[in-house]
Amino acid sequence: MQSLSLYSDVELAFLIQYGLHVYIPRTREKIHSEAERRSLSKEKIDRIIRRVEHMATKPNACPRCKSKKIAPLSVSAGEDATRTGYITIGAIMDLIPKRGGSVTMVQRKECTVCRLYLSPNANRPISAYRALWQRLFMPLMD
Ligand SMILES: [Zn+2]
Repeated sequence: MQSLSLYSDVELAFLIQYGLHVYIPRTREKIHSEAERRSLSKEKIDRIIRRVEHMATKPNACPRCKSKKIAPLSVSAGEDATRTGYITIGAIMDLIPKRGGSVTMVQRKECTVCRLYLSPNANRPISAYRALWQRLFMPLMD
């Protein structure tokens, strides 16, 4: 991860609230001690998040934490369907075994602060097959 000094207090609050799971315990400890150094208590973090989540989102910023620390992410069509609940043709095609076991990859983005997954399918109407899909494939994705 980038040096914690490059994170604003708001970014650090969202990182602690939503993004810690991607880091190893030692890095998590560093993040918590940085928050302590800045006097970011649990209450203060909650206040920041409640305030920022409802703010308007600027272009190229994360809709949740408003950070511009957005990174490209390459995922399989199946994983995109699992994360968004929106089943695409690419995801269905990937269920059919192919020679060489290749899967359809799609280019997405992810906020590196709060780990919000950014996909054009994220806000589409939820497919009726969502529950079935998640029951079948979510255990395999973890
Ligand atoms: Zn974010």
